Amino acid sequence: MTDHPPRVHDHDSAEGLVPVEDARARVLETIQPLAPLQLPLTEAHGCVSAEDVVATESLPAFPSSAMDGFAVRSSDVAEATPERPAELKIVGRALIGYRPDATVGGGEAVAIATGAPIPAGADTIVPIENAEVHGEVVRLVEAAATGRHVRPVGEDVAEGTVLVERGKRLGAPELGLLANAGFPTPLVHPRPRVVVLSTGDELIPPTESPEYGQIRDSNAFTIFGALREAGAMPVLAGIVKDDADSLKETVLDYLIQADAFISSGGVSVGERDVVKAAFFKRGDIDFYKVAMQPGMPQGFGQIEGKPYFGLPGNPVSVFVSFELFVRPAMLTMMGRTQIDRPEVAATLAADVSGPKGKMQYARVVIERGDAGWVATPTGGRGSNLISTVARANGLAMVPPGTETAPAGSQVQVMVFRTGED
Ligand code: AMP
Ligand code: MG
Repeated sequence: MTDHPPRVHDHDSAEGLVPVEDARARVLETIQPLAPLQLPLTEAHGCVSAEDVVATESLPAFPSSAMDGFAVRSSDVAEATPERPAELKIVGRALIGYRPDATVGGGEAVAIATGAPIPAGADTIVPIENAEVHGEVVRLVEAAATGRHVRPVGEDVAEGTVLVERGKRLGAPELGLLANAGFPTPLVHPRPRVVVLSTGDELIPPTESPEYGQIRDSNAFTIFGALREAGAMPVLAGIVKDDADSLKETVLDYLIQADAFISSGGVSVGERDVVKAAFFKRGDIDFYKVAMQPGMPQGFGQIEGKPYFGLPGNPVSVFVSFELFVRPAMLTMMGRTQIDRPEVAATLAADVSGPKGKMQYARVVIERGDAGWVATPTGGRGSNLISTVARANGLAMVPPGTETAPAGSQVQVMVFRTGED
């Protein structure tokens, strides 16, 4: 790894708060969609198409029968009625999956199954319900116009039409369509592989029992879930001690398999703030304070051209910072263009207070009331209270300048999940 000139900026002064929108724009202006790859359909599911996929053949590719019955010439059955059935000679059978070898001449019929190709010479199908078979002869008791019960070539897709547009996310129907049309490895923006690190001497894995003063690492799992829900691929790199060299070493170890990094903890002003210590003098990591609560201190930059998110340590700060900065970046890397959570206007069921100069993100549960959405805070505002997030489905935004949004007032709520059990 080559040494970069130090390009680190510190904005720790009290007046140096960066508005949320600016912080977000700074992150997003550096983020590009990942280079497209051809992936098998099963892996391409949920990814965004990197090109217009144009049909190279028509679908269906051959005319087939929509009914079990007889393939005939419409002119032979034009006058057929129950009283005066058309009598035709059965000259063969058209099977599903094979080119029919029989052809239908005047006065002839070929027995046909649903989905089987229409034999040459026939232009219509008389369903089995309107036929009586007597040995080699079939009596057809109803007229059938040209094309009746025939699935024509190109009825679904005409050759040359766009099957999936560039920028379209491949969901279940798109996978089926691409499979049908012969595109087993579409060109898509892949899912970013994101290395997740937790920093802190006090942390232990959730599989261990804490000594007094120790804390189970929750952030790694919050971030894991949030990445999965965004469609990215988390790689858990575990807990790193508050030691700059260990952090650097771990990051470098994972460099080759990472499209991005997320660490939590160690980004504020404290002496032991390890992310700063590790990356203050190399890479292009910027440390700043965002005018938001929770989540104020943030680090963001690139390590060897890969985005590095240095999130704060508090569990609620992690969740909120992920929503505001990381999630839109992940979606952008996946080629998605709709990167914002939906917002609704809701009436507060209780007062929400926040620091005056910052955007307050209050954890709320929103429910439909008689007069629109109602947002009820799920608990205290402390940024360590992760249970307040677990009970919530939205973040109510109390903008800078407002210290208390009173019960009954309207707020905008970012909805981060809906219709959950
Ligand atoms: P820091 O920014 O590193 O000082 O961390 C702020 C607070 O978040 C401290 O109380 C940490 O113990 C806590 N914290 C940091 N990382 C984690 C984590 N991975 N899981 C749970 N709590 C954490
Ligand atoms: Mg720490």
